[in-house]
Amino acid sequence: MKFAIVSKGDDRSNKIKATIKQYLTDFDLTYEEKHPDLVISVGGDGTFLEAFHRYRHCLENTAFIGVHTGHLGFYADWTPDEVEKLIIEIAKTPYQIVEYPLLEVIIRSKSGGTEDRFLALNEATIKTADGSVVFDVEIKGEHFETFRGDGVCVSTPSGSTAYNKALGGGIIHPSLEAIQLTEMASINNRVFRTIGSPLILPKHHTCLLKPLVDRSFLIAIDHFTKSYTNVKSIQCRVAKERVRFARFRPFPFWNRVRDSFVTEED
Ligand code: NAD
Repeated sequence: MKFAIVSKGDDRSNKIKATIKQYLTDFDLTYEEKHPDLVISVGGDGTFLEAFHRYRHCLENTAFIGVHTGHLGFYADWTPDEVEKLIIEIAKTPYQIVEYPLLEVIIRSKSGGTEDRFLALNEATIKTADGSVVFDVEIKGEHFETFRGDGVCVSTPSGSTAYNKALGGGIIHPSLEAIQLTEMASINNRVFRTIGSPLILPKHHTCLLKPLVDRSFLIAIDHFTKSYTNVKSIQCRVAKERVRFARFRPFPFWNRVRDSFVTEED
């Protein structure tokens, strides 16, 4: 089996990376950065997101696992103390794979018909540094509302516990193939009206955001943000690709939610 390790880059994470690499190589596993079967992220959830995007080209054959070197992460859920146990589990392979849905985002420009396609593990957010965003929201080809406000967040079920949660969105179990649209400070008065509630769209229900006012948009896909002008539309739907998590022990989603948000730290 081929494995790669993505470290956050600080001393602690680099040391843990070196230990894992050494032990797994001693167990005759091959360190291979291009097309690994297993990617081990060492750091935090941000490192895990980075690892996911680095190996976006081989999602079909690559599984991910996260070790945290700071606070307990949502994706990075193995502690540094458990690393030896994890190494033995990995060396013993085969392991269980759990697949969860991703978000596909296609940004089309007005001029030249160019388009950018992204996959998000957590979410896409669309904001502007330039006043309010104003766009028509279409769902499944039908006009739903005209949104005016700070922006919107479109998240995956795995990302429903991230930015989406801070916006008052619901937590969705990742076995459900869905995306969730949450508003950021929508303007609601006698002139402008939006639904005001998070919307959960099933697979094949595409959401299209069509800007009505020319703005420079700040579009964030997980941890990276890009500025866009001349945007014709932003299309969001459940992606055909999926993310694969390597599971070496049961860690049910709701336990993860409880341990991250409800249980108090000692
Ligand atoms: P960061 O380091 O600021 O991370 C923000 C926090 O989000 C961290 O505590 C991380 O553990 C947590 N997080 C990430 N994914 C999560 C998930 N799926 N469920 C629960 N918690 C999760 O920023 P970063 O490391 O660059 O991570 C980018 C992510 O930060 C974005 O994908 C977005 O979800 C999140 N974010 C949250 C807010 C907010 O809650 N107000 C604002 C901006 C970004």
